[in-house]
Amino acid sequence: MDKIIMLGTGHGFTFDLYNTCFILKNENKNLLVDTGGGAEIIRRLEQAGYKLSDIHDVFISHCHTDHLLGLMWIFKRLGSMYARQGYLGTFNIYCNEEVANSINKMYSLVLPSVLANAIKENVKIHILQDNEVVKLAGYDIKFFDLQPRGNMLYGFETILKNNKKFIFLGDETCNPKLYDRIKDADYIMHEAFCLDAEEPIFKAYEKHHSTVKSVCQEMNKLNIKNLILYHTEDTHKENKKELYKQEAKMGHFLFRVGKFTYCQ
Ligand SMILES: [Zn+2]
Repeated sequence: MDKIIMLGTGHGFTFDLYNTCFILKNENKNLLVDTGGGAEIIRRLEQAGYKLSDIHDVFISHCHTDHLLGLMWIFKRLGSMYARQGYLGTFNIYCNEEVANSINKMYSLVLPSVLANAIKENVKIHILQDNEVVKLAGYDIKFFDLQPRGNMLYGFETILKNNKKFIFLGDETCNPKLYDRIKDADYIMHEAFCLDAEEPIFKAYEKHHSTVKSVCQEMNKLNIKNLILYHTEDTHKENKKELYKQEAKMGHFLFRVGKFTYCQ
C-alpha cells in the first residue's frame, strides 16, 4: 500500500514545526524526500518508527538549509554506524548537480575525518537529469526540473500502486510553465506558506511561496483531485488544520484530511 509519512511540515525558518520532509513508502520500501535542517531529522525518523538502517534512498529537492542540512546529521549518525558495521549496504542520494556540489563540499568540512571517510566510501550520490526515471521504493519515479526562480529545484512524478498519479512540487509556487504537465493529477504535494488572510504578515509572495487560498485556486483550475499542503509557518498550533481547511474551501477546493499519516 502507498503511504506518505510526513516527518515535518514547517517552512525554512520554523522552530515549533520541523522543516518539511517526508517518506514515500511502498510496503517495506522507503524513499526519504528531503531531510529538514537539523538533528531533529533523527528524532523524527525514530518517532515515525524508523531506524536509519531502514532508509537506503534519499531524494534532496534543492540545496537550501531547511532541506539539505539534516543530511549532515544523518551522515554523522551513518558514519559511526558504518564504522561499527551497524549499517549494511549503500546509502544512495538522488539530487540535482547543485545539491551534489553542496554535499561534496560540505560533509568533509563539518564531520570528523573518520566519519567523513566512512561517508566517502559508502554513500553514492546520483546526479539527476531533467526527466530522468529511477526505480525507487518500487515506483518508477520521474524527476524533473521545477523551473524555479532561485536555486535549482527538482520535483518528481510517479504512478502509485493504486494507479493514481502523484506529483511532488518542491517548495516554490508552481511555475505556470508546468501546468500542462501537472493538470488532472490525482495527488499534488505543494507548499502553502500561510493563510491568504495573513499574507501581509508572513509575505509569502515575495519569497516565491503561496497562500492556502492561492494554491487551492490554481490547483482547482487544473482539475487536481487531492492536494497535500506543507512548508507552512508555525503559528495556529491548536487549530491550524481547521483554519487551513476553511480557507481551502474558499479557494473552492475540497480539502481531504486523514488519508495520510500526519506527524507534527
Ligand atoms: Zn524550504
